[in-house]
Formats: sequence, C-alpha cells, structure tokens
Amino acid sequence: MYDIEKIRADFPILSREVNGKPLVYLDNGASAQKPQVVIDAVTRGYAEEYANVHRGLHYLSNLATEKYEGVRGTIARFLGVKDENEIVFTSGTTEAINLVSYAWAAPRMGPGDEIILSAAEHHANIIPWHFLRERLGVKLVWVDLDANDEIDPEAVLSAITPKTKLIAVTHMSNVLGTVVDVKTIVAGAHEQGVPVLVDGSQATVHMPVNLDELGADFYAITGHKLYGPSGSGAIHIRKDRLAEMQPFLGGGDMIRDVGREEVTYADAPMKFEAGTPGIVQQIGLGVALEYLMELGMENVAAHERRLRDYARTKLDGLNWLNIQGNSATKGAIFSFTLEGAAHPHDISTVLDKRGVAVRAGHHCAQPLMDVLGVSATCRASFGLYNTQAEVDTLVDALELCHELFA
Ligand code: PLP
Repeated sequence: MYDIEKIRADFPILSREVNGKPLVYLDNGASAQKPQVVIDAVTRGYAEEYANVHRGLHYLSNLATEKYEGVRGTIARFLGVKDENEIVFTSGTTEAINLVSYAWAAPRMGPGDEIILSAAEHHANIIPWHFLRERLGVKLVWVDLDANDEIDPEAVLSAITPKTKLIAVTHMSNVLGTVVDVKTIVAGAHEQGVPVLVDGSQATVHMPVNLDELGADFYAITGHKLYGPSGSGAIHIRKDRLAEMQPFLGGGDMIRDVGREEVTYADAPMKFEAGTPGIVQQIGLGVALEYLMELGMENVAAHERRLRDYARTKLDGLNWLNIQGNSATKGAIFSFTLEGAAHPHDISTVLDKRGVAVRAGHHCAQPLMDVLGVSATCRASFGLYNTQAEVDTLVDALELCHELFA
C-alpha cells in the first residue's frame, strides 16, 4: 500500500511552514525535496566517511571509494542496465549532454550534418547542439508538437535524412508533462542507423524506465530531481558509443599514464570522469534511488496518475485558467496562464503567500514557449509526496488570484 502519510514523514521539510502556511511544494519539476535517509547519508558522508576517492590506500579513502563506486551499480539497477561500466557519473543532465556533444558528436560532425530536436526540449538539450551549429555548421532540425500537444514519433522519424547524425529528444516535457514515445523513436532511428540521445531528467522521476528495453544510445538522468543531492547525476552510454568517444575534460582520475610527450587514458567510464567528483553527492543519489526502488516506481507512477487525474478535473473546472498541453500521456505537471493577463510571476507570488511553491517563467524551454505563444507560464509539478488536499489548496489559491486579477 502507498502510505502517503508515512512517505511524507520521510521528508522533514514538508512539515515546515512558509509565510505562516503549511508548505505545499509543487516545484518538483525544478528540484525535489530530500528524504531523511538522503540527508543522513550526506551528513554521514562528511562527518564520518569522507576522503577523496580512487587515490589513497588508507581506510577512509577505500571506504569512500567503495561507497561511491557502488552507486554505479545502483544506478544501473534503477535504469535496468546490465553493465554498470556503461554508467558515467556527471553533475547532472546539463553536464551529461555537454559531454556527448563534446566527446562524441563534435569529432564526427561537420557542415550540413543534421541533429533532430523536438520543440519540447529543455535548454540543456538545445544549447550543446547550438554550439555545434555555431562552431561546425551543423543544422538543427526541429519537430513540432502535433494537434494533441504530443511529439509524434513518426514525425521525428520522417525528419531523418541521409545527413542526420543524431536525434536528441526528451522522454518527458518539463513544461507540459507530455511523455514522448522514445521507444518507437529509438527503434525506428536504429533501423536507419541514426543514434538517439534521450533526456531522462523528468521521466525517471515519475515512472519506471528500463533502458535495456528502450535501447537508446545515450540516456541522461539528474540526481536533484530524483530526490537526491544537487550536483549528482549520470548518463548511460552504450558500450559501442563509449568506444567512439574522445575524452572531454582532462585531468586527474581519467588517465592511465602521463608523460611529457604522451598520455594514455583510463578505460571508460573513468575516462570521462576527470577531477575530484561529487563524492558525497553521488553517494546520496545512490541512497535516493534505493529509496525509490523500495517504494517501487510503478507505485509512485500510480500515485501520481491519481493526483494528475484529480488535479486535471479540478483545474479544468476553472474556466479562466488556460492549461497548456492537453496530451493524454501527460504526467502530473501542469503549466498554465490566467485570463486577465496576470503575469505568471504575479500568480506565483500570490500562491507563495498561501504557502504554495510553484515555478513561473520560461522553464528553460523558450522554443516551446514560442510554440505555445506565451513568454512564460506558471507550473505546478507534483511529486511522490503530494496529496489531493494539496491540489485543493492550489485551487483555492488560484481562485484568490482570479479574484485579485480579474
Ligand atoms: N532536462 C530537463 C527536461 C529538465 O527538466 C532539466 C532541469 O530542469 C534539465 C534537463 C537540466 O538538468 P540539470 O539541472 O541536471 O542540469
């Protein structure tokens, strides 16, 4: 049974007040709160078990290395990956996609080569490809939302030309909550020999993901949305793609031998992990993923589906609220604007006075804002600890906004 009260008690911050009201945290799309087990792991990591990894032969260095390296296996299990050496640690999705851009894409792309992107991408899956457009003359090919506010896999596949070198697509929109059928995209792209990078930043938080079944070449995740520490994350890179990559960042830990005239590199994944990493952050991420696996991602997904359906019914009842994105495949993420043209920043300020934390702005998805015909929205994004009562509080606070701004 999904014991929501017990789960909420695991997250100490949820019992605090904001502006004299109980906190209703609906900004999970930006970053999620941390359960006590993660907070304890981070505290213990620094208070009792801290040393640099991979370097020392002393007790604490070995202990930290063992715990840190153990997280590779945890991430592999969480994502349904068989070989943990295909997991490269990163500080999050932004670093992960930049790694692919510099280490895999840049050396094999030139003028006129094409990268297919969806209009629903986060800037983290746009700017690294703009770099290649600016520096190498690569062309970015955009696939728009269809009439159902979804990314149609067939539209992505039909954008493939002989010049296509990569498809880079999100698994779930951080603005609309729309889930993209990346399995169909990967299967169709591979038939035509085109690799696929998937931004899993949002999807992995809200539903079970099995990369063995999905088969993407590159799949990025970020720890701070997965109830783990900020500065933690990883990318799964298939072994054949790892073998094609040149090192991106140079420094300690990623080498085998360094001389005056030559250098040889460590094997993957360490070849792509230069410098002292986020040791305690990754250890905390491992604990967060264990926590999620114990809850069961299918149970989290079922809870969030119930929340989504409840929120959709309630929000649909507010006929002055414009909800963006109607997809049936939507997760529990709602972006909206309010008739009467109150700016999303004003709405979020009023909601904040009621203790309700939402995000307002372009959500690092400006091409999507252009498609929607707005410069900004308010976004309420739900997580595994949110409740129907919190949906009611959101609705009450929105009604107050309507009264104030109508
Ligand atoms: N991609 C998506 C879909 C996101 O929602 C985010 C975070 O907002 C990112 C990428 C960036 O992730 P990170 O903060 O780990 O760099």
